[in-house]
Amino acid sequence: MKNTILSAKGLCKSYAHDGGQNHILQHVDLDLYEGDFTVIMGSSGSGKSTLLYSLSGMDRATAGQVIYNGKNIVTMKEKELSKLRQNEFGFIFQQMHLVSNLSLFENIAVAGYLDKSRNANDVKERTEMLLEKMGISHIKTHLPSQVSGGEQQRCAIARAVVAEPRLLFADEPTGALNRRNTNEVLSLLTDLNQAGQSILMVTHDMKAALRATRILYLEDGKIIGELNLPPYNPDETKSRETQVNAWLGSMQW
Ligand code: ADP
Ligand code: MG
Repeated sequence: MKNTILSAKGLCKSYAHDGGQNHILQHVDLDLYEGDFTVIMGSSGSGKSTLLYSLSGMDRATAGQVIYNGKNIVTMKEKELSKLRQNEFGFIFQQMHLVSNLSLFENIAVAGYLDKSRNANDVKERTEMLLEKMGISHIKTHLPSQVSGGEQQRCAIARAVVAEPRLLFADEPTGALNRRNTNEVLSLLTDLNQAGQSILMVTHDMKAALRATRILYLEDGKIIGELNLPPYNPDETKSRETQVNAWLGSMQW
């Protein structure tokens, strides 16, 4: 039995539109489990990002619940919610949002210092370890503008995990990268997951979805399908690709 990290029930998100309501998420029920690399797929505009934001407390659902640690984050006070996002969750986006006048080292360490339960030495050590792991140790004193997009995203991943989040959220983390950098970033996420990091990633890239241990398919704000997979193994990509492709076909992707 896997432990549930987060549990959504009847999650709805609507926007006012032309005097009516646009229903973007429609009664989504979803449990996320410890150790999973869950991927949400679906066509553009199906509500993937909205779902990720609603689950992570970046945005508030219109109705329904998201239970984390016994508390409903949909109705949580902003102060408590922001603590939760800072200490329990990690975030990676398509645009890296690194602080332009801080070095790569500083960008990562600052996120560690925000976690008040850590002392400075611990943060420095973790930052060094992650710079090494992400392969950007040699450029740690560079500013974001002085390194490539792939290197910036690797820094953003290190920043997202420096405080050891219980759950890592990623919205199209490879959306702005070329094929080589995409593969590197996906491999780093796979390594993190196989070392125990729970991940929820939104993507419309089949190559990215191959890394998942669980794929959910979203259509018009509803989850219409689910595929469970064994942990990613680079020696078996061909058969995995065939399986995922066939399943996506059945979802009319
Ligand atoms: P996806 O990530 O699957 O491409 P999104 O979750 O970004 O889809 O968006 C789903 C739908 O919600 C889109 O039709 C989009 O226009 C609409 N939407 C998203 N954010 C807002 C907003 N802040 N106000 C109004 N409509 C929005
Ligand atoms: Mg999106």
